[in-house]
Amino acid sequence: MENFMNILKNNKITIGLILIAFFLGLWIPNGDSTAKVATNNESHSSETQVWTCSMHPNVQLPVSGQCPICFMDLIPLESESGSLQPNQLSMSESAMKLASIETIPAAYGIAKMEIHLSGKVEFDESRIGNITAWVPGRLERMFVDYTGITVNKGDHMMELYSPEVYTAQEELIQARKLVESSSGQSAFGQKNVKATLAASREKLRLMGLLDKQIKKIESSESPTNLITVYSPMTGVVIQKNGVEGAYVKTGTNIYTIADLSRVWVIFDAYESDLPWLAFGQNITFSAEAIPGETFKGHIAFIDPVLDAKTRTVKVRMNVQNPDGLIKPGMFVQGTIQATLDGDGKAINPELANKWICPMHPEVVRDQKGDCEVCGMDLVKSESMG
Ligand SMILES: [Zn+2]
Ligand SMILES: [Zn+2]
Repeated sequence: MENFMNILKNNKITIGLILIAFFLGLWIPNGDSTAKVATNNESHSSETQVWTCSMHPNVQLPVSGQCPICFMDLIPLESESGSLQPNQLSMSESAMKLASIETIPAAYGIAKMEIHLSGKVEFDESRIGNITAWVPGRLERMFVDYTGITVNKGDHMMELYSPEVYTAQEELIQARKLVESSSGQSAFGQKNVKATLAASREKLRLMGLLDKQIKKIESSESPTNLITVYSPMTGVVIQKNGVEGAYVKTGTNIYTIADLSRVWVIFDAYESDLPWLAFGQNITFSAEAIPGETFKGHIAFIDPVLDAKTRTVKVRMNVQNPDGLIKPGMFVQGTIQATLDGDGKAINPELANKWICPMHPEVVRDQKGDCEVCGMDLVKSESMG
């Protein structure tokens, strides 16, 4: 019983509120229609009323009835003001509400657009190194015998058997002995043997031996047939061309090493995207293979030539990849918040009045100077297209 009384009490309050709302509604006048799109002229006379089919708008009859095509009941044709231009649109007030159309006046200003690009991760071409045979010989031993291995600068890669290197080492040891025994000779003679020693060192250096290897040969006085070749850089072995026991010529490429601490992402931009793109613009991208992570970078290069087959232009960005998460070959989706200035030129507002390197858009300075990566003179960001 007590419950029932409570419900009744609550209902009384509710009914009271509804009544108040009802009377308020009567007193508040209807808001003025703020429609900015041309609305239909409702004052046209019934003589000009045209009837149409909601399925076949080309059916326009002066009398009501059925559609001659689908036999649906015809409906009165609205918004027939007759004063509309081809680029104008007329909607009834109810249609505008249904379409929830918002309008703003047209004006000049900075245009913004979000550009979406698809791309692929590639090796940074400037960070690929080759290990080639500097002398003809035989691959005696290959310490790195499959691709994908990470090697550090200075790691031994292979041993090359080379009779030529053996001869050059003998010459070096001989020259060294001559210098040691030349103390009693004339200044000219001493100078001569020293020059010979320097030349035989240089010869071995040109055969790919490191200074420390040459010093070791000089001090040990025992030439060897085998020379060890070390990696000139840190990276991942992406190609291996030789097998143990194979003979190689001077210049034969044996290993290719790629430094993956920085990679390239090459995006394909359509012709319609081009007006929105500019050197130095920020790009964020994500890869399906790395869920939940987004990466940032800048447009470092926009290909001046359009690919005739795909009708796209290659847009390149440099990406720092210290953890090696981003792997060459991955597909990525990029987004650019593009901005056009009043002249319709794509700009990066962050780079306004800054100095940047034409090769390294990530290098941004307030004053002119040199790029810390490549040493090039920095240029005004506005001068880059
Ligand atoms: Zn019809
Ligand atoms: Zn640079």
